[in-house]
Amino acid sequence: MKTGYNIAIDGPAGAGKSTIAKKIATKMGYIYVDTGAMYRAMALYLLRKRINPADTEQIAGMCQNADISIEYKDGEQVVLLDGENVNAYLRTEEVGNMASYSSAVPAVRSKLVELQQKLAAKEDVVMDGRDIGTVVLPDADVKVYLTASAATRARRRFLELQEKGEAADIEKIEQDIIDRDYRDMHREHSPLRQAEDAVLVDSSDLTIEEVVERIADLCR
Ligand code: C5P
Repeated sequence: MKTGYNIAIDGPAGAGKSTIAKKIATKMGYIYVDTGAMYRAMALYLLRKRINPADTEQIAGMCQNADISIEYKDGEQVVLLDGENVNAYLRTEEVGNMASYSSAVPAVRSKLVELQQKLAAKEDVVMDGRDIGTVVLPDADVKVYLTASAATRARRRFLELQEKGEAADIEKIEQDIIDRDYRDMHREHSPLRQAEDAVLVDSSDLTIEEVVERIADLCR
């Protein structure tokens, strides 16, 4: 049934998945699908409703009412929550942390996975997330598991925040990353893991261009 060419990129928080996936999408003329942004939009919805992250039953019920969809504007993915463009609110630590709780709820996952599979069936995509190679697109043409040490990922995030003029505590960032990895890797449903047929790329000592080249080579 599959028609689009599908590239799946999975890995832990802060490994550089979105930066790399965007560049590959541009290089190949494919659509970039950021699945984390969909989980973040759902988390934003739940935060706005003041739902407790530990209340999985309420999350399972409430998530059915959130209308999440994706649009592309000038090549950029726009996430719509009940028709509102929420891109500007998604990349905060608060939303990221809520997402790592709410994404463990099966009802949330099945709703968003369906949306992701529909996109990939009709388009050539580079999709990044945690379960793309294992669950969402098990037949993807190329699968990459992109990682880097927790210290490297914390340093990158710290520099990013510094550049934006935001105060940040590098030790707290590293601890948040370690905690988030743990939740993502140990949850019962679709935990983060390397698919058997995925190629492992450790970006700790590679430049962005080197990583892009390595993945482009896999596609050739
Ligand atoms: O990649 P990003 O940091 O934006 O993802 C936010 C959270 O959404 C992750 O910590 C993870 O819990 C969840 N997620 C997921 N499956 C995906 C993408 C993201 O569970 N495919």
